[in-house]
Amino acid sequence: AERARLAAGRGPGRTADGHPVKLLLNIGSAEDLRPGAEGVGLFRTEFLFLDRTTAPSFEEQVAAYAEVFAQAESVIVRTLDAGTDKPLPFLGLPGEPNPALGVRGLRVDRLLPDVLDTQLDAIAEAARKTGAEAWVMAPMVTTTEEAAGFARRARARGIARVGAMIEVPAAALRAAQLLRELDFLSIGTNDLAQYTFAADRQHSALADLLDPRQPALLELIAMCAQAGREAGKPVGVCGEAAGDPLVAPLLVGLGVTSLSMAPVCVPAVREALAGLTLADCRERAATALA
Ligand code: PEP
Ligand code: MG
Repeated sequence: AERARLAAGRGPGRTADGHPVKLLLNIGSAEDLRPGAEGVGLFRTEFLFLDRTTAPSFEEQVAAYAEVFAQAESVIVRTLDAGTDKPLPFLGLPGEPNPALGVRGLRVDRLLPDVLDTQLDAIAEAARKTGAEAWVMAPMVTTTEEAAGFARRARARGIARVGAMIEVPAAALRAAQLLRELDFLSIGTNDLAQYTFAADRQHSALADLLDPRQPALLELIAMCAQAGREAGKPVGVCGEAAGDPLVAPLLVGLGVTSLSMAPVCVPAVREALAGLTLADCRERAATALA
């Protein structure tokens, strides 16, 4: 029966010895939803509004979020990650000499606080309308103070679970303190690698530095996973590394509790995990760290 279930590519992800690992989807809109995963681990809301020159209204946002909430078991919504590789023209942000190190992600809130307030209102309203339990996280969180401020505003609206993406090394180093303010963490390995290795994530000549098996990156992931274990709170990975069947077992060995990936990656990751025990995964992680 277990083999049949795996062949069908459904149900929870598990190692060969039954250790559960949630397999979640990265989506940009309801069109990206596919059956076979346990929910959405990263809803990139900025993808809904990339070509807009006027701000999306509260009502428009409620409709877009509700469409996803109505179709997926559980959804982690990421608040707008504007800036650097994803400019949002409607924000009218000034140009910057160093956009990857500038006002992007949650940092936009420093200049335009209404944008986050409206988005959190819309997420809360979409959850109310659909009866879904909304999980919300912010991109590019850097300090505990930022995490606390974000959590306060989300909780004031009755949002069920509030988290942060770990994309900046400073946040990874303070994962335990962040988890005093938050319910979960989701590690964005694309940006975490970029900022840890000071290597533009789109630069092909630097691909070796951006390899998710780099020990320094794995060490930061291990710190976050340990903080999660100690706090009894989920810590997942939602960067491209989570969808790589050679890397996913390492991440599980480091202790992450969920993997969120492009829908097309789910079957291969499910199969890779089903072929290894948790002890195998831990051994691979230890070897990679060494
Ligand atoms: C990441 O940085 O790993 C991530 C998942 O976010 P994005 O790729 O959208 O920046
Ligand atoms: Mg990112």
